[in-house]
Amino acid sequence: MELCTVDACRKPVKAKRMCAMHHQRWRRHGDPGVTKVRRAAEPTPCKWVNCAKPSLSKGYCSKHYYIHRTRAKARPEA
Ligand SMILES: [Zn+2]
Ligand SMILES: [Zn+2]
Repeated sequence: MELCTVDACRKPVKAKRMCAMHHQRWRRHGDPGVTKVRRAAEPTPCKWVNCAKPSLSKGYCSKHYYIHRTRAKARPEA
């Protein structure tokens, strides 16, 4: 019986030479060694007025980044 190829894991292989748990991690994160998703210690808040959501792109949260982009396209001078 084949065993999981991840470091100290000795569980039977389910797919791709990894056990069920590591295979799932690999599918989710692209890396079977990931135990938790890394996050910035303190996310920068969205720079939109009165928005407290953490920023994702260019200093805006996902929603406001979308609005910002759409506006920039429609009115480049504004
Ligand atoms: Zn494993
Ligand atoms: Zn926002």
